[in-house]
Parts: sequence; C-alpha cells; structure tokens
Amino acid sequence: MRKLAAGNWKMNGSTAALAEVSALLAAHPAPGCDMLLCPPATLIAPMASAARGSALLIGGQDCHAKASGAHTGDIAAAMLVDAGASHVILGHSERRADHGETDAQVRAKAEAALAAGLIAVVCVGETEGERDRGVTLEVIGAQLAGSVPDAAAAASVVVAYEPVWAIGTGRTPTLPEIAEVHSFIRARLTERFGEDAAGFRLLYGGSVKPSNAAEIFALPHVDGALVGGASLKAADFGAIVAAL
Ligand code: PEP
Repeated sequence: MRKLAAGNWKMNGSTAALAEVSALLAAHPAPGCDMLLCPPATLIAPMASAARGSALLIGGQDCHAKASGAHTGDIAAAMLVDAGASHVILGHSERRADHGETDAQVRAKAEAALAAGLIAVVCVGETEGERDRGVTLEVIGAQLAGSVPDAAAAASVVVAYEPVWAIGTGRTPTLPEIAEVHSFIRARLTERFGEDAAGFRLLYGGSVKPSNAAEIFALPHVDGALVGGASLKAADFGAIVAAL
C-alpha cells in the first residue's frame, strides 16, 4: 500500500511558516508516498491554498463530536473540510493528557469526522509506566476498542501508534518493540474488521527523524509515520518523506 508521511505541527507556526510548505513542495513535487501536514487551525485554510494542485494533503489536529452549537473554542469536522482539510488527528496523547479526552470521546469525534468525509488519524500509545509494567498491548488493545468507531474502514481511518514517552523526547522503542505493537494492532483490527484490516494504514509516531526513519519504515505493518518536531522544517520532513 502507498505509505503516508503525516506531520503534526501542534501549536506551532504562523503565516511566515508557510515558506516551509513551499520549500517542501519544491523539493518533493511528486513524492513516493502520501504527504499530510496538520497545522494549527489558523493555518489550515492558507496552507490548503498554498498546497492547491500539489501532492500535499492538509489536516486538522482535533474536531468536536457535534456538528455545530454552543462549544466556544471548538471546531467542527465540517469546518475543517470547509477550510480545506481531508484528514484530522484524533486522540493525540497531548489531547488525552491536556484535555482529559477519553476513548469514548475520541470515538465520538472520529464518528463525526467520518460523517463529514474526513479521514481520521486515531492515535493510541502507552505511557512509560505502562510499558514498564508490561501492560503495553493491553493498553493499546483497550484504546483501539474504545477509540476506533465501528464504521471505520481502510479508506476512512488511519491508526497511529505513538508511545507517549517517545513523543518529543528523542527516545524510541526498539525496532522489535515497534514491530510487536504494529503486528498486534493489525491483528486486533483483523478480528474486528476482517479482510479490510489489511488496508488500514498504521503509522508509527514518536521521535521519528531523518536518521531513524528508514529502519522504522522497513518494519512489517509500518505504513508511514506521524511526525511532530521534525515536520516543522521542510528539510527534515522532506528527508523522512524520501525515506518512505
Ligand atoms: C507527535 O506529537 O505526534 C510526535 C510524534 O512528536 P515528535 O515527532 O516530536 O516526537
């Protein structure tokens, strides 16, 4: 399957940062994988304009479970579509930690995203304490069961495995540890969605950088990456795109 390089700009970037998008597109006009950038909500529309006609896809970093209403500061899935997004990251560990998002809330948001025609990038991942206690697969299994909607399909949902302790720390699990979790996720999706599960893209996220991308991408069931810090600079993200 065609792999996906997804970048999460988090709460970084103003209009001046759109120069990175121009540089990325100039360096990778026809990438060998799908390319997605998820900027802060304020940059979705201008980034979508800058990317028009190119291979770059644009996504949001969150959406509300409701279609509209009295939810100050929130953004609806259809608003992301209106601004030019095709994807939305949901259940990122920073949302789960900063905003107390539960699996049930992530699932409701994913259902809203699918209803609006967005592709949901649903994030799961264990904390360091959970890994140390040997309950990683149990935690991932529960998050998958709770966060991925029943209506999910290969064309509408991407699953990102992001160990919380690897995000922004420069630390990553070993290659066998990443492979173990990705195989487990594929198996769990197969139990639930049957043959369609083979087509779900499974991303690894957590301190992916140009120097470790190729070895991670070579692992079975790793269909791309969700990249935080290294997605902010065209040169770094471009090198990861080239490794896929
Ligand atoms: C992320 O936040 O999704 C992420 C993977 O961050 P980083 O690449 O900076 O570890």
